[in-house]
Amino acid sequence: MLDIAIDGPSGAGKSTVSRAAAAELGVIYVDTGALYRAVGVAALRRGLDTKDREGVAAILPEITITLGFVEGEQHVYLDGEDVSKAIRLPEASMAASDVSAVPAVRAFLFDLQRTLAKENDCIMDGRDIGTVVLPDAGLKIFLTASAEERARRRFLELEQRGTPVDFDTLLQEIIQRDYQDSHREIAPLRPADDAVIVDTTGVPFDEVVARVVALAHEAMAKLRAAEILEENEAYGEDTDA
Ligand code: C5P
Repeated sequence: MLDIAIDGPSGAGKSTVSRAAAAELGVIYVDTGALYRAVGVAALRRGLDTKDREGVAAILPEITITLGFVEGEQHVYLDGEDVSKAIRLPEASMAASDVSAVPAVRAFLFDLQRTLAKENDCIMDGRDIGTVVLPDAGLKIFLTASAEERARRRFLELEQRGTPVDFDTLLQEIIQRDYQDSHREIAPLRPADDAVIVDTTGVPFDEVVARVVALAHEAMAKLRAAEILEENEAYGEDTDA
Protein backbone atom coordinates (compact mmCIF):
# COMPACT_ATOMS: atom_id res chain seq x y z
CA MET A 1 0.00 0.00 0.00
CA LEU A 2 1.61 3.27 -1.08
CA ASP A 3 0.52 6.50 0.53
CA ILE A 4 1.98 9.71 -0.77
CA ALA A 5 1.97 12.81 1.41
CA ILE A 6 2.14 16.17 -0.33
CA ASP A 7 2.43 19.22 1.89
CA GLY A 8 3.14 22.84 1.17
CA PRO A 9 1.81 26.38 1.40
CA SER A 10 -1.40 27.54 -0.24
CA GLY A 11 -1.28 28.06 -3.97
CA ALA A 12 1.86 25.96 -4.54
CA GLY A 13 -0.17 23.80 -6.93
CA LYS A 14 -0.69 20.89 -4.53
CA SER A 15 -4.25 20.13 -5.59
CA THR A 16 -3.81 20.33 -9.37
CA VAL A 17 -0.50 18.46 -9.28
CA SER A 18 -1.84 15.84 -6.86
CA ARG A 19 -5.01 15.30 -8.89
CA ALA A 20 -3.05 14.79 -12.14
CA ALA A 21 -0.42 12.57 -10.53
CA ALA A 22 -3.09 10.47 -8.75
CA ALA A 23 -4.91 9.91 -12.05
CA GLU A 24 -1.67 8.81 -13.69
CA LEU A 25 -0.78 6.49 -10.81
CA GLY A 26 -4.32 5.09 -10.47
CA VAL A 27 -4.74 6.10 -6.81
CA ILE A 28 -7.29 8.40 -5.17
CA TYR A 29 -6.57 12.02 -4.40
CA VAL A 30 -7.54 13.29 -0.94
CA ASP A 31 -7.58 17.06 -0.44
CA THR A 32 -7.50 17.55 3.33
CA GLY A 33 -7.77 21.35 3.06
CA ALA A 34 -11.40 20.75 2.05
CA LEU A 35 -12.07 19.27 5.50
CA TYR A 36 -10.74 22.35 7.31
CA ARG A 37 -12.66 24.55 4.89
CA ALA A 38 -15.87 22.65 5.71
CA VAL A 39 -15.34 23.29 9.43
CA GLY A 40 -14.69 26.96 8.56
CA VAL A 41 -17.96 27.11 6.60
CA ALA A 42 -19.84 25.49 9.49
CA ALA A 43 -18.46 28.16 11.84
CA LEU A 44 -19.26 31.02 9.43
CA ARG A 45 -22.81 29.74 8.95
CA ARG A 46 -23.32 29.89 12.70
CA GLY A 47 -22.15 33.51 12.70
CA LEU A 48 -19.10 32.64 14.80
CA ASP A 49 -15.85 34.58 14.94
CA THR A 50 -13.59 31.90 13.43
CA LYS A 51 -10.74 33.03 15.69
CA ASP A 52 -12.85 32.19 18.75
CA ARG A 53 -11.22 28.84 19.54
CA GLU A 54 -13.64 27.79 22.25
CA GLY A 55 -16.64 28.76 20.15
CA VAL A 56 -15.30 26.77 17.19
CA ALA A 57 -14.47 23.74 19.35
CA ALA A 58 -18.00 23.83 20.79
CA ILE A 59 -19.68 23.26 17.41
CA LEU A 60 -17.72 20.08 16.61
CA PRO A 61 -20.10 17.68 18.40
CA GLU A 62 -22.95 19.17 16.35
CA ILE A 63 -21.42 18.68 12.89
CA THR A 64 -20.63 15.76 10.63
CA ILE A 65 -18.08 16.00 7.84
CA THR A 66 -17.64 13.25 5.29
CA LEU A 67 -15.84 12.81 2.01
CA GLY A 68 -17.22 11.06 -1.04
CA PHE A 69 -15.76 10.34 -4.46
CA VAL A 70 -17.89 10.94 -7.55
CA GLU A 71 -16.15 9.69 -10.71
CA GLY A 72 -12.85 9.97 -8.87
CA GLU A 73 -13.53 13.57 -7.86
CA GLN A 74 -13.65 14.37 -4.16
CA HIS A 75 -16.82 15.91 -2.70
CA VAL A 76 -17.09 17.17 0.85
CA TYR A 77 -20.33 16.99 2.82
CA LEU A 78 -21.29 19.04 5.84
CA ASP A 79 -24.19 17.40 7.68
CA GLY A 80 -25.03 15.55 4.47
CA GLU A 81 -25.04 18.69 2.30
CA ASP A 82 -22.52 18.83 -0.55
CA VAL A 83 -20.52 22.00 0.26
CA SER A 84 -17.79 21.42 -2.35
CA LYS A 85 -18.55 24.82 -3.96
CA ALA A 86 -19.18 26.82 -0.78
CA ILE A 87 -15.79 25.84 0.65
CA ARG A 88 -14.03 27.51 -2.31
CA LEU A 89 -15.42 30.98 -1.61
CA PRO A 90 -12.63 33.38 -0.54
CA GLU A 91 -14.05 33.86 2.99
CA ALA A 92 -13.78 30.09 3.53
CA SER A 93 -9.97 30.23 3.03
CA MET A 94 -9.20 32.44 5.99
CA ALA A 95 -11.89 30.72 8.06
CA ALA A 96 -10.18 27.38 7.32
CA SER A 97 -6.80 28.73 8.35
CA ASP A 98 -8.32 30.12 11.59
CA VAL A 99 -10.13 26.92 12.60
CA SER A 100 -7.15 24.74 11.65
CA ALA A 101 -5.20 26.27 14.55
CA VAL A 102 -7.73 24.82 17.02
CA PRO A 103 -6.37 21.53 18.46
CA ALA A 104 -9.89 20.07 18.81
CA VAL A 105 -10.49 20.64 15.08
CA ARG A 106 -7.29 18.83 14.13
CA ALA A 107 -8.18 15.93 16.42
CA PHE A 108 -11.72 15.88 14.97
CA LEU A 109 -10.38 15.45 11.41
CA PHE A 110 -7.43 13.18 12.21
CA ASP A 111 -9.23 9.80 12.23
CA LEU A 112 -11.08 10.54 9.01
CA GLN A 113 -7.78 11.22 7.22
CA ARG A 114 -6.04 8.17 8.71
CA THR A 115 -8.91 5.87 7.78
CA LEU A 116 -8.98 7.12 4.20
CA ALA A 117 -5.25 6.47 3.85
CA LYS A 118 -5.50 3.05 5.45
CA GLU A 119 -8.29 1.93 3.14
CA ASN A 120 -6.94 3.33 -0.14
CA ASP A 121 -3.73 3.89 -2.06
CA CYS A 122 -3.77 7.66 -2.14
CA ILE A 123 -2.08 10.96 -2.62
CA MET A 124 -3.10 13.07 0.34
CA ASP A 125 -2.32 16.76 0.34
CA GLY A 126 -2.34 19.26 3.18
CA ARG A 127 0.02 20.96 5.60
CA ASP A 128 0.87 18.26 8.14
CA ILE A 129 0.36 15.03 6.20
CA GLY A 130 4.03 13.99 6.16
CA THR A 131 4.72 15.27 9.68
CA VAL A 132 1.60 14.23 11.64
CA VAL A 133 -1.14 12.41 9.73
CA LEU A 134 0.96 9.90 7.76
CA PRO A 135 4.45 9.94 9.29
CA ASP A 136 5.12 6.54 7.67
CA ALA A 137 4.04 7.55 4.16
CA GLY A 138 6.11 5.81 1.46
CA LEU A 139 6.80 9.17 -0.15
CA LYS A 140 6.69 12.69 1.25
CA ILE A 141 6.85 15.74 -0.96
CA PHE A 142 6.94 19.38 0.08
CA LEU A 143 5.64 21.38 -2.86
CA THR A 144 6.40 25.07 -2.77
CA ALA A 145 6.70 28.23 -4.91
CA SER A 146 7.35 31.92 -4.27
CA ALA A 147 4.46 33.91 -2.71
CA GLU A 148 4.19 36.11 -5.83
CA GLU A 149 3.91 33.13 -8.15
CA ARG A 150 1.31 31.52 -5.91
CA ALA A 151 -0.73 34.73 -5.79
CA ARG A 152 -0.52 34.99 -9.58
CA ARG A 153 -1.83 31.44 -10.01
CA ARG A 154 -4.70 31.95 -7.53
CA PHE A 155 -5.56 35.26 -9.23
CA LEU A 156 -5.89 33.57 -12.64
CA GLU A 157 -7.86 30.69 -11.16
CA LEU A 158 -10.38 33.00 -9.44
CA GLU A 159 -10.63 35.18 -12.55
CA GLN A 160 -11.44 32.11 -14.66
CA ARG A 161 -14.10 31.09 -12.15
CA GLY A 162 -15.71 34.50 -12.52
CA THR A 163 -14.77 35.71 -9.03
CA PRO A 164 -12.10 38.34 -9.77
CA VAL A 165 -10.17 39.76 -6.81
CA ASP A 166 -7.52 42.42 -6.29
CA PHE A 167 -4.02 40.96 -6.82
CA ASP A 168 -2.34 42.80 -3.93
CA THR A 169 -5.08 41.80 -1.52
CA LEU A 170 -4.62 38.19 -2.62
CA LEU A 171 -0.83 38.38 -2.18
CA GLN A 172 -1.19 39.85 1.32
CA GLU A 173 -3.71 37.16 2.20
CA ILE A 174 -1.34 34.42 1.01
CA ILE A 175 1.55 35.90 3.00
CA GLN A 176 -0.69 36.17 6.07
CA ARG A 177 -1.97 32.61 5.68
CA ASP A 178 1.59 31.26 5.24
CA TYR A 179 2.64 33.04 8.42
CA GLN A 180 -0.39 31.84 10.34
CA ASP A 181 -0.02 28.23 9.08
CA SER A 182 3.71 27.98 9.77
CA HIS A 183 3.68 29.71 13.17
CA ARG A 184 0.80 27.94 14.86
CA GLU A 185 1.63 25.84 17.91
CA ILE A 186 -0.02 22.69 16.64
CA ALA A 187 1.03 20.87 13.46
CA PRO A 188 2.71 23.91 11.87
CA LEU A 189 3.39 23.89 8.15
CA ARG A 190 6.93 22.58 7.66
CA PRO A 191 8.59 19.92 5.52
CA ALA A 192 9.02 16.52 7.17
CA ASP A 193 12.72 15.71 7.73
CA ASP A 194 12.53 13.05 5.01
CA ALA A 195 10.46 15.07 2.53
CA VAL A 196 11.63 15.80 -1.00
CA ILE A 197 11.36 19.56 -1.59
CA VAL A 198 9.91 20.40 -5.01
CA ASP A 199 9.99 24.13 -5.87
CA THR A 200 7.53 24.82 -8.68
CA THR A 201 8.42 28.49 -9.27
CA GLY A 202 8.71 28.88 -13.03
CA VAL A 203 8.42 25.13 -13.65
CA PRO A 204 5.75 24.08 -16.19
CA PHE A 205 2.86 22.10 -14.70
CA ASP A 206 3.53 18.94 -16.76
CA GLU A 207 7.13 18.84 -15.55
CA VAL A 208 6.06 19.06 -11.92
CA VAL A 209 3.55 16.23 -12.40
CA ALA A 210 6.18 14.12 -14.18
CA ARG A 211 8.59 14.66 -11.29
CA VAL A 212 6.00 13.61 -8.71
CA VAL A 213 5.08 10.52 -10.74
CA ALA A 214 8.77 9.60 -11.13
CA LEU A 215 9.32 9.98 -7.37
CA ALA A 216 6.27 7.77 -6.76
CA HIS A 217 7.63 5.06 -9.07
CA GLU A 218 10.98 5.20 -7.24
CA ALA A 219 9.22 4.91 -3.88
CA MET A 220 7.13 1.96 -5.13
CA ALA A 221 10.27 0.19 -6.38
CA LYS A 222 11.92 0.72 -2.97
CA LEU A 223 8.87 -0.62 -1.16
CA ARG A 224 8.76 -3.65 -3.44
CA ALA A 225 12.50 -4.31 -2.94
CA ALA A 226 12.02 -4.13 0.85
CA GLU A 227 9.09 -6.56 0.61
CA ILE A 228 11.15 -9.02 -1.47
CA LEU A 229 13.99 -8.81 1.05
CA GLU A 230 11.56 -9.52 3.87
CA GLU A 231 10.03 -12.47 1.98
CA ASN A 232 13.51 -13.90 1.31
CA GLU A 233 14.52 -13.52 4.93
CA ALA A 234 11.32 -15.26 6.06
CA TYR A 235 11.99 -18.03 3.49
CA GLY A 236 15.59 -18.35 4.75
CA GLU A 237 14.37 -18.68 8.33
CA ASP A 238 11.89 -21.35 7.22
CA THR A 239 14.50 -23.43 5.36
CA ASP A 240 17.17 -23.00 8.08
CA ALA A 241 14.86 -24.54 10.63
O1 C5P B 1 -5.19 23.57 1.15
P1 C5P B 1 -6.21 24.64 1.43
O2 C5P B 1 -5.77 26.02 1.05
O3 C5P B 1 -7.57 24.30 0.91
O4 C5P B 1 -6.34 24.63 3.02
C1 C5P B 1 -7.11 25.58 3.71
C2 C5P B 1 -6.51 25.81 5.10
O5 C5P B 1 -6.67 24.62 5.88
C3 C5P B 1 -5.01 26.09 5.11
O6 C5P B 1 -4.70 27.46 5.07
C4 C5P B 1 -4.54 25.49 6.41
O7 C5P B 1 -4.62 26.43 7.44
C5 C5P B 1 -5.55 24.42 6.72
N1 C5P B 1 -5.02 23.07 6.53
C6 C5P B 1 -4.33 22.50 7.58
N2 C5P B 1 -3.88 21.21 7.48
C7 C5P B 1 -4.11 20.49 6.38
C8 C5P B 1 -4.80 21.05 5.28
C9 C5P B 1 -5.23 22.37 5.38
O8 C5P B 1 -4.09 23.14 8.59
N3 C5P B 1 -3.70 19.23 6.34
